[in-house]
Amino acid sequence: MKGKTHAGIGAFTFISICHKVPGGFNYFGLLVVILASLIPDIDHPKSIINRYILPFKNKKTKVVVYICLAIIVLYFDYLYVDAPALKALGISLVFVALSSHRNGLTHSLLGLVVFTMIFGYLGETYNIPNMTYYFMIGYGMHLACDMMTRMGIPLFYPFIKKKYSFPLTYNPSSKGGSGFEDFLMIAGIAYTIYRLPTIF
Ligand SMILES: [Zn+2]
Repeated sequence: MKGKTHAGIGAFTFISICHKVPGGFNYFGLLVVILASLIPDIDHPKSIINRYILPFKNKKTKVVVYICLAIIVLYFDYLYVDAPALKALGISLVFVALSSHRNGLTHSLLGLVVFTMIFGYLGETYNIPNMTYYFMIGYGMHLACDMMTRMGIPLFYPFIKKKYSFPLTYNPSSKGGSGFEDFLMIAGIAYTIYRLPTIF
């Protein structure tokens, strides 16, 4: 699934359930949801976030950059902070560096828990309420959407390496698949316009 489709679906989901989320609708929440929708694909060197992080969009650069980031985070934690969330972030970055797309931590339930904990820690440190809710909506929807694709995701990584998908799937690299993603985006935009009067 394309990054913009993940971002769109995260945003539409937040808009459709924001009245049930503590704190209701707010732009910062929407931004966190969109960012969280893009994070699982940091295991792919050409994904949206990596376009900003990596100087060269290939696997070797991804390994080097993420290992360096891991060292910086772990060293910073060792010197100044000593927080479990930062240790978890440093170790997760090593996993991101070493796993290939959709084969590891970021596309698993464990990844959802670990990254939610990291963002929850950031929310607590900087006094941002409801951070974990926003994050789980975006990240959770990304995993659910990837389970609609034929390839599936390693939901129970690292315990079970098998990839899981829903009974009905589509092929995102086919013409029909990309048409289906466009349809989802148009439906989401139409729904957002319909819901706008009730949000504000
Ligand atoms: Zn993905």
